Amino acid sequence: MIEKDFLQSLSPEQKQKMIQMLMEDTTEESEFIAPSSPDDDSVDHSDSPKNKVAARVNDDFTVSREEQQNGRQAVRARENRWEDDGIEHMDIETPDVKRTARNRSKPGKKRVECHVCGKTFSVNPTLAFGEYHRCNKCTG
Ligand SMILES: [Zn+2]
Repeated sequence: MIEKDFLQSLSPEQKQKMIQMLMEDTTEESEFIAPSSPDDDSVDHSDSPKNKVAARVNDDFTVSREEQQNGRQAVRARENRWEDDGIEHMDIETPDVKRTARNRSKPGKKRVECHVCGKTFSVNPTLAFGEYHRCNKCTG
């Protein structure tokens, strides 16, 4: 699964490069790892495809490659690459316990008089504030 995720995280150019590296069978890794140098802010390369990829070795020796954010970037939706493979929360089992009884009392109603037509009607007390109430017919 890790390999699959890793491959999906690669852009087509990166995959091409990786294939080249595998074909050449060299141990030259520096070609794949871009140096993480601070960029100058004078040039606007928010849309340029030359975003550098910084490789970072995590504590568990997995390598994560992140696109470096070059200053400001337009906010836009990207492709959602997540797939529901059923692996999430596989270890969690629903405990077989007795369900809690749904015995909460009904919400209390308040009888108020419509000040337009004079009929009395019931409303939720949280909605009945003030002195002048309108029934559903007279609300318009
Ligand atoms: Zn009314």
